[in-house]
Amino acid sequence: MKRNLVHSTLSKQDFEKVYSLLDVGPMPFDCGMLCASLCCQEYEPGVGMYLLPGEEQMFTMEETWLNWALVKASGHNFPPDWKGDVAFVSCNATCPRDKRPIQCRTFPLMPYLTPEGTLEVRLDTLSGILICPLINQADTYPVRPEFYRAVLAAWKILIKDPLIRSDVWHQSRLLDKDESSVWRSLLEL
Ligand code: SF4
Ligand code: SF4
Repeated sequence: MKRNLVHSTLSKQDFEKVYSLLDVGPMPFDCGMLCASLCCQEYEPGVGMYLLPGEEQMFTMEETWLNWALVKASGHNFPPDWKGDVAFVSCNATCPRDKRPIQCRTFPLMPYLTPEGTLEVRLDTLSGILICPLINQADTYPVRPEFYRAVLAAWKILIKDPLIRSDVWHQSRLLDKDESSVWRSLLEL
């Protein structure tokens, strides 16, 4: 596969540290029991996940449980300073758990940079509000504090890469916009 991936400043060791920090789940039980593991299913056609720039170092790109595609960052919802391609993967709903990508490890949380630039983590209402009980029934199923702490520690490492920080900033402003939207007030979330 020809690669012209978005540049990364993070090393494989950085990603190994992040993966290790994220070897903790959001609940003290398998939350897939609440939803038939919806976020691991093709709940709508073509659903999958983007790898972060540099995360491909954790893969051979020949894993039989993953389907790979490279998509142009400029044609998707990434900030303009992302030049090149982004790896987009989907799986067959089974994976070696220790190999699962960052997006699978951090969901249902997302990183958020406040307008002052402070890093926080929040429930990922941008992509998960319609599918995840930990988001749309957050009072019933509160995500445990140690998961918040682990995800925050992981993103502190990841945003040392300026392009990843740029994307977190971009997504954070989208979250701000979404939270003030009319449809959100209709959902009362
Ligand atoms: S993170 Fe949410 S959508 Fe995914 S398995 Fe757990 S409860 Fe289901
Ligand atoms: S890689 Fe694993 S955790 Fe991620 S969506 Fe696929 S089965 Fe689920």
